[in-house]
Amino acid sequence: MQVQVSLILDISARASVTEMEQQIMHAGREGMRQAMKESVRAWEKQQRCCPHCGSQELRVEGTVSRRLQLLFGPVRLALRRYRCQQCLYRWCPARSLFSGLHQQRISPGLRQAAILAGASWLYRQATHLLAELSGGAVLQKSGEPKKV
Ligand SMILES: [Zn+2]
Repeated sequence: MQVQVSLILDISARASVTEMEQQIMHAGREGMRQAMKESVRAWEKQQRCCPHCGSQELRVEGTVSRRLQLLFGPVRLALRRYRCQQCLYRWCPARSLFSGLHQQRISPGLRQAAILAGASWLYRQATHLLAELSGGAVLQKSGEPKKV
């Protein structure tokens, strides 16, 4: 399974090192999010066997939206739904990929960073640090994502 993501940066010739760093960080996070989307899509393409009857006669039947919270920010995925042409079983293979995630949407890396930040600093400082790291979404006390 090979995934390719390219980054094109348009950096001003007058940009300071700080501005360059910020632009590169932003583009890098976007590249990581794109790489995650491409990785999940490549993984889905390898799931070519019905879990119910074992047939390889499958058809893509739409997508299901899923938002993941990752260390490098939130990613919205369009997960493929398959339908077996032999037994008519329908399923979304990527659901098994996310079954081990906290609330099936928070990566272990982000969860660990949130635990460390929460144990080390006050809530406001911890959420600010996580927002800086992830480039966007952090978790509120209710567990709902908050856009910063
Ligand atoms: Zn089947």
